[in-house]
Amino acid sequence: MGAADPRGRPVAGADLLAQRLARILLTRDPGAVSIDGWTRGIGGDLLTRSPHVREPNFTRIHGDDLAFLFAAYDDRFLNGLCGGILGPDRLTFRLSGRMTRAGGKTTRFERSGGARRFEIAVATSILFDGFGGDDPEVTVCGRACANRLEALQRIFEHELVHLAEWLGWDESHCGRSRFQGIAQRLFLHRAHRHQLITRSERAARVGVGVGSRVTFGFRGRRLTGRVNRITKRATVLVEDARGERWSDGRRYARYYVPLGELRLAEPEPARGRGRA
Ligand SMILES: [Zn+2]
Repeated sequence: MGAADPRGRPVAGADLLAQRLARILLTRDPGAVSIDGWTRGIGGDLLTRSPHVREPNFTRIHGDDLAFLFAAYDDRFLNGLCGGILGPDRLTFRLSGRMTRAGGKTTRFERSGGARRFEIAVATSILFDGFGGDDPEVTVCGRACANRLEALQRIFEHELVHLAEWLGWDESHCGRSRFQGIAQRLFLHRAHRHQLITRSERAARVGVGVGSRVTFGFRGRRLTGRVNRITKRATVLVEDARGERWSDGRRYARYYVPLGELRLAEPEPARGRGRA
C-alpha cells in the first residue's frame, strides 16, 4: 500500500490516508537515536543538494529548500502521507523577513468549494539574526541548536506537526497535549511555543538598549561602542579617528550589528581620573 499514489483519488481515499496519518502521529515513537540520525541525515542531504544552503550557518536560503525539507521529513517520519493527502499544489512555502516574533507559521486557507490549502512560512529574520560570531547557544523548541541549519530544522519540525495535525484532525494547537506528545515523540521537542528566538528576547537577554556600552566582533577584532539606535539591527558608534565628527566633538564610525552579536561592555572608566 505504501507506494500507492493517492493523487486524484476521491475524497474517501484522502479520509483513509488522514486516518493512517493520525494513527502514526499518535503512536510512532522512533527513539532518540533514530531521530537524531534521521534529522542529521536530512540536514546533510539539504547541504549536499541545495544551491543556497551550502554550510550549517548558511547565509542564503530559498523556498525550494523548505519544499525539500517537507518532502524529506514527510517521507522519513510520516510515510509520505502529508504529501499524499495534499497532492502537488495544496501546500506552498514562504520565507519571511518580516516575521519577528515567531520562527515559523503554518496557515490554512479555505477555498470556495471547501478545498483546503496550506502555507508554511519560516522567518529568515530570526534565523539570520542568530549564530553570528560568539553568539550564545540558541534554543529552539527546547533543543539546543549549534547552527542555523539545526534551528531551521527545529522550526520546520514544529510547523510540520501543525500541518500534520490539521490534516489528521482538522485543527492544530501547539499549546495542547496532543501536539506536544507528537512533537516530543517524533522530534524530541521539549518546548512548544511559537515564539522561539526573537530579537526582543535577544535584546532583553543581553540587556542592550539605546545608550548601552557594548562590544562586538568585527573582522577578528573586538570593538567597543555605544548603541545609538535599535531597529532590525543596532547602530553602534565606535570612536574612530577616520569617522564622522559628532556633536560631542569626537569622531565615530557606525556599525550595524545584529542584536544577538552584542555584549554589554564594562562601564566606561571615568575620564580624567588618573591612577593613584
Ligand atoms: Zn505552534
